[in-house]
Amino acid sequence: MGYLDNILFAIVLIAGFAFFASNVKKIIRNINLGVDLDRKDNPKARWANMALIALGQSKMVKRPIAGILHIVVYVGFIIINIELLEIIIDGLFGTHRIFAPYLGFVYDILIASFEILAILVIFAVTVFWIRRNLIRLKRFIHSDLTGFPKSDANYILYFETVLMVLFLLMNASDLHLQNVPGGVFHKAGSFPVSQFIAPVFNGKSNELVVLLFEVFWWLHIVGILVFMNYLYFSKHLHILLAFPNTYFADLNPKGKFNNLESVTKEVKLMMDPNADPFAAAPVDENAVPAKFGASDVQDLNWVQLLNAYTCTECGRCTSSCPANQTGKKLSPRKIMMDTRDRLQEVGKNIDSNKGIFVPDNKTLLNDYITPEELWACTSCNACVEECPVNISPLSIIMDMRRYLVMEQSAAPMSLNAMMTNIENNGAPWQYSQQDRLNWKNEN
Ligand code: SF4
Ligand code: SF4
Repeated sequence: MGYLDNILFAIVLIAGFAFFASNVKKIIRNINLGVDLDRKDNPKARWANMALIALGQSKMVKRPIAGILHIVVYVGFIIINIELLEIIIDGLFGTHRIFAPYLGFVYDILIASFEILAILVIFAVTVFWIRRNLIRLKRFIHSDLTGFPKSDANYILYFETVLMVLFLLMNASDLHLQNVPGGVFHKAGSFPVSQFIAPVFNGKSNELVVLLFEVFWWLHIVGILVFMNYLYFSKHLHILLAFPNTYFADLNPKGKFNNLESVTKEVKLMMDPNADPFAAAPVDENAVPAKFGASDVQDLNWVQLLNAYTCTECGRCTSSCPANQTGKKLSPRKIMMDTRDRLQEVGKNIDSNKGIFVPDNKTLLNDYITPEELWACTSCNACVEECPVNISPLSIIMDMRRYLVMEQSAAPMSLNAMMTNIENNGAPWQYSQQDRLNWKNEN
């Protein structure tokens, strides 16, 4: 490559990383719109969770076919991109396979393993495509996965295939140029897969094959930069966010709810037979939240917003949700997708109003998620158990229900009756406390 190519490459590289950095900044800003929450406790357990669930993909393999294929794509994609480092150095300094002389036979092993992984990735991606588009697994054709989210999943599969094919074509043309009499390129690498592709260049002039090599090289690296920037718009963001998401996930047992301190105090007072209801209780202004529960994304905590960006849209939650299975409107996957969509909308609002959110007469509640969906939840935690990246759709559902009940008194009639009974009788039944033991007088 000449100097002009190196300069052009530097410009493309800087532009790609700059655009990516600006989008990462937006994501962090949006996640920080959430309510503060301390998740610094127990770092040992958190690192273990991250290593096991994000890196080791322990929850993915609960469904073995998808799990193992996913590991192939994940490992393949990450490891092959190690070569990116060499490509970047070659591109910037006009060298060719700069690591080869330093790594010797290790280099050959590396390139050979990249090629084998590339072919495995193509195989796994093809199976994924077949599952989505030919076998049409129920969770991939569910009504909450239409429009862009449906196409997005396919775009990613196409992207990955094209990148792997370009990688192999790049190697094949390179190998041909290494083997021509006089050797246009120096000998470097071992090519167990692309050696079968290289013969297609036989009979072509060296100039043409060098040109083709450069085309494959450029398309490959530009493709990677485009893919990196596409992540911001895609569910594929999980390849990065699964790590912080599993680290900051709730460590409490799944059935444990986070009670509001101010409400807990009230209830304890109500249940304490020795409490004097007329005694002036000290009012702790800080303990009373400005708003109970959540009606919009800014009312959710930052971990819930991180959850929304991390959702892989795999639908494992929805496929195991009893409410969804019995035909209710609720889909925990949709809860996460709606939260992300609304968060993106709020973020765009802030971007176009000089850093300030201007009320847009919309909220996550009603405009995205309806009370009907929220009240269909049985709070069984199946969605949390199933999620391969430790997301909790249930926590968002509960916070939004809390808002409906405590801010709007908008619970279903049966619940309102129960809550009135608890308030008046200290129990969910319609009897006064004095009548509780009447049953034993009956014959
Ligand atoms: S907790 Fe609610 S949303 Fe999650 S699986 Fe159970 S019923 Fe569905
Ligand atoms: S919440 Fe988890 S299980 Fe549900 S779609 Fe998202 S990643 Fe999959």
